[in-house]
Amino acid sequence: MRSNLIAGEWVNGTAVPNINPSDTSDVIGEFASGTAQDATDAIAAARAAFDTWQFSAPLERHAILSKTAAELMARRDELGELLAREEGKTRAEATAEVGRAAQIFDFFAGEALRLTGEVGASTRPGVEVAVTREPVGVVGLITPWNFPIAIPAWKIAPALAHGNTVVFKPASLVPASAHALVDILHRAGAPAGTVNLVMGPGRSVGQSLIEGDLDAISFTGSTGTGALIAAESAKRMRRCQLEMGGKNPMVVLDDADLDMAVRVCLDGAYFSTGQRCTASSRLIVTEGIHDRFVAALGEAIAGLNVGHALHEGTQIGPVVDQGQLDSNLAYVAQGEAEGAMRQIGGEVLNRDTAGFFQRPALFTGCTNDMTIAREEIFGPVAAVIRVRDYDEALHVANDTPFGLTSGICTRNLKHASDFRRKSQAGMVTVNLPTAGVDFHTPFGGRKGSSFGPREQGAYAREFYSSIKTAYINAG
Ligand code: NAD
Repeated sequence: MRSNLIAGEWVNGTAVPNINPSDTSDVIGEFASGTAQDATDAIAAARAAFDTWQFSAPLERHAILSKTAAELMARRDELGELLAREEGKTRAEATAEVGRAAQIFDFFAGEALRLTGEVGASTRPGVEVAVTREPVGVVGLITPWNFPIAIPAWKIAPALAHGNTVVFKPASLVPASAHALVDILHRAGAPAGTVNLVMGPGRSVGQSLIEGDLDAISFTGSTGTGALIAAESAKRMRRCQLEMGGKNPMVVLDDADLDMAVRVCLDGAYFSTGQRCTASSRLIVTEGIHDRFVAALGEAIAGLNVGHALHEGTQIGPVVDQGQLDSNLAYVAQGEAEGAMRQIGGEVLNRDTAGFFQRPALFTGCTNDMTIAREEIFGPVAAVIRVRDYDEALHVANDTPFGLTSGICTRNLKHASDFRRKSQAGMVTVNLPTAGVDFHTPFGGRKGSSFGPREQGAYAREFYSSIKTAYINAG
């Protein structure tokens, strides 16, 4: 059994099998499901470690993060295979994700050496003002299943770089990637208690964390869980950062390059089986290009190779588990019941292995008030909404409770730059898929998609450090 890491010790728990969604007869391993008490113990361990770690030399933090980056990069093929086996994204996507995690650790190894402040003049003569950043303390990190190593990386790396200690709870569906990452950090020299891993269910381990003695929580996951964490954090006057769902629009205008628009939408809506918070599940298309676009996208979907994540040539892996597949199927049925037309896909596919395979679905004739255009499905289902012109497209794009990403395909500079300014999303793309972002730039959304400071890049410091202003009378 693979164990939890608490205070530098591997601690056993209830053994839970980890199942491959491409082949349910493949058991990846058994992982220790922890308890609420484990979460409390891990917080205590992180608090004890914080006393020393907060004053650790930047070079020590740099060395641990660098070493972690190097091992992740060296083992990206092996860890990519493990990730693809437990989550179901294709081998290529999974290997790239491990490489991304390595780059993130590398970036934050550098950030650990760039912990600067400001010194300025006071309004009072002879007084100097120094503004410095200090660690926040013990940070709880709660992550979803869809990016099992990249999302933990973009929380753990900045937390440590800025001198915080962490308690990390991964999603129950993906313990293997989480365990591998923490094992690497442990062997890279992270002192006992600086990084604690508690695997297990949200309702026990997660709940114990959010009710525990943490100084901050960074969460990525569904809007419902995010709202719970916000409420608990408000009660405790505790800082929290929430990255939640999306219902991201991709606008396609009459003047778009059709081939490019199809590629952009195919990738944005369906790659990683549509299981990305940044997926473009609303395709808002102006009437002059609508029919040609729908025909070309339908053809492209028909040509997609859906199958076992590790098989050569697979472009779309399985849905993550039976529960998610049932939910996707229910949305497909609801789309039809509300009058949308199922152009292609949505059905369960049989393959050589017992997995959760579903053909990507494209709905046309949708209106923006239909359930499939309002709610995040988190699967390979996209809704085409036909609009008259750019102005209507912009209005429909912004008419959503979410605001994570948005995109536009056009050759018109005026519309591209107008959309960039007026889109109510945290991230905007022009002639690029809504999913697939850089690691050194801020990541986050607006409205119901995000709460608190941005993640990633240098902006991560806004969450993982606390500002101190000092006045020094040098006279
Ligand atoms: P989820 O909310 O069910 O679970 C996320 C994490 O929260 C898991 O570790 C889970 O165990 C934990 N959790 C569940 N209940 C909890 C509780 N009561 N207390 C504490 N922790 C609890 O989400 P999921 O199904 O794992 O992930 C899918 C969701 O994640 C989608 O909505 C997707 O959009 C979102 N997501 C957002 C981003 C982003 O950056 N905005 C990125 C990836 C995924």
